[in-house]
Amino acid sequence: MIANPNEIPIADNHIHVDPVNGDGPVKIAKLFYNAGGRVMIIPNKPSWSINDNFNFKEAIDLGIRNVEEINQNTSVKAFPICGVHPAEYSKLLKNGKSFEEAYKLMKKALDYSAYLVNENKAIAIGEIGRPHYEISEEELKYQNLIMKYGMELAKDVHCPVQLHTETATEDEFREFALLADEVGLKREKVIKHFSGAYITEDENFGLTPSVIANKELIKKAINKGNIFLMETDFLDDKTRPGAVLGPKTVPKRTLDFIRKGIFSQEDAFQIHEKNVFKVYDIEI
Ligand SMILES: [Zn+2]
Repeated sequence: MIANPNEIPIADNHIHVDPVNGDGPVKIAKLFYNAGGRVMIIPNKPSWSINDNFNFKEAIDLGIRNVEEINQNTSVKAFPICGVHPAEYSKLLKNGKSFEEAYKLMKKALDYSAYLVNENKAIAIGEIGRPHYEISEEELKYQNLIMKYGMELAKDVHCPVQLHTETATEDEFREFALLADEVGLKREKVIKHFSGAYITEDENFGLTPSVIANKELIKKAINKGNIFLMETDFLDDKTRPGAVLGPKTVPKRTLDFIRKGIFSQEDAFQIHEKNVFKVYDIEI
């Protein structure tokens, strides 16, 4: 077991667990803890990981149960995020649903997510947004409506959103910031999941970047400032090994960077404690 000498509440801001296709919540949380990790922010997996009838509620409920299992059986503090992945919309269309029908189903899943946040059963809405692959103009119009709807709900229940989108540059950060302004959601409550090192305000327009815990990216990020979160986007899917970073990456990277003086203690507490507390309003 790797020590975390100052008990920095090292947090992975976007890590999945999957009891059906992967090692599951408890095993992954133990790996994470033994590498020095303490906090896991866990968005539910898409519905297709457990059913093929687009039962979004079932996928969201499983996400909540996974987090409960971690909190009951390990020393990790886990928090659930609920939502409906933009790729679900594409799949609904492929399955023969009209743009409108699919839109209604997506909205229903988002309503349920907001309900859970309101009941204090989840801490944010996500991952929502736009697909990372090419889509038609018409689909894009609807994907944007769904993203906006998710932001409106987040504003109503006072929580952040985690955005999954195409690779974002300053242009997209600006676009999402303006969308947040339009619905009245604070810009900092918009978390860009799978972000590059967009750290300064003139790069991210006040959004909260959740930077992939890749060595070079985190080095680049910390050279610009310490207002960001760290994540792996680990999928816990045995059919896609190595698709993303492993579950131990955030604690390993953090502790290694402290040892090497790339992160100060203060940086580590800022990233993992203060930034997490500020965006989610949770006490660790
Ligand atoms: Zn994800």
